Amino acid sequence: MNRAKALSTVLLAGALVVLACDRDKEAAQSQSSSSAATATTQPSIEPITFPPDRGPLPKIDGDRAMQYVKDIVKFGPRPLGSPNHKKVEDYIDTRLKGDPVEDDTFTAKTPVGDFPVHNIVAKYPGTKDGIIIIASHYDTNYPLRNTSYVGANDGASTSGILLELANQLRGKTLDGYSVWLVWDDAEEAMVPDTEMDFMADSLYGITHLAEKWQADGTLKKVKAFILADMIGDSDLDVDRDQNSTPWLEDVVGEAAKRLGYQSHFFARTNKVSDDHLPFMNRGVPSADLIDFTYGYNNVFWHTPQDTVDKLSVTSLQISGDVILETVRILDKMDPLPPK
Ligand SMILES: [Zn+2]
Repeated sequence: MNRAKALSTVLLAGALVVLACDRDKEAAQSQSSSSAATATTQPSIEPITFPPDRGPLPKIDGDRAMQYVKDIVKFGPRPLGSPNHKKVEDYIDTRLKGDPVEDDTFTAKTPVGDFPVHNIVAKYPGTKDGIIIIASHYDTNYPLRNTSYVGANDGASTSGILLELANQLRGKTLDGYSVWLVWDDAEEAMVPDTEMDFMADSLYGITHLAEKWQADGTLKKVKAFILADMIGDSDLDVDRDQNSTPWLEDVVGEAAKRLGYQSHFFARTNKVSDDHLPFMNRGVPSADLIDFTYGYNNVFWHTPQDTVDKLSVTSLQISGDVILETVRILDKMDPLPPK
């Protein structure tokens, strides 16, 4: 993939087709017209039966999630190997004190040298055999390290949501699958857009975890991998991703509907290269929850304008609630659709 940021807009018979080839995420196609929008919702081929909608709907504390996001952003840029990066690692670890945490540390060989990488995994046990993973990266883009870029939406927003999810999950045996929260590291590329293929220079942390868990047999127990990325944006429009598992995306859509948040989900379809691919490629059902239209034509993405004022408590709330409701539906789907 050409890593140069090329965003072209073509008008075709009343349908706006946006072709984007980006370093970090490959937004292959986004269509918006009344007819195209209907066509791009793309339900999975086999319609799935959802368990009845019973029990209280989940509700995270959106204000508390926002406070976490602000705290993380306040450390400043947090590229790999920086003192700020270490401060954010410590910040996350401190919030998880007392929880069962697996630290996955290793040295990544990157085009610009060797760097320490630190994935943080908090594990909340459930009564059912199997694991649901919810992941977010927390590092910021390395080539932007000498700018004021703090990745408020890209990295911080979802790291804050995961910290709030931890508050909702700890202190009890979950009535369903175990949930593992993963703050993965070194997601961002190390060299600028034009110099290297994104997939050859990114996803260092999550790839290490997928390989490790494949080797030790953990991966077989993972029922679903849910990735959260760039979904704190106040103008929230989560994409349906063609690189994700269709039935799992359907479950996310159902969760959104039950909460009355469906207008924020799946009006667009994209094809996104993101942290879910190492799990997806190893046969784990995966869903990337990403809103890859951050400002008009994604103008705030990977710029110093990715700041907290572009986010909202409501969006953090919506994203967190939908993730928890997705887990709740998965817990009650027996059996889960085939991989
Ligand atoms: Zn990024």
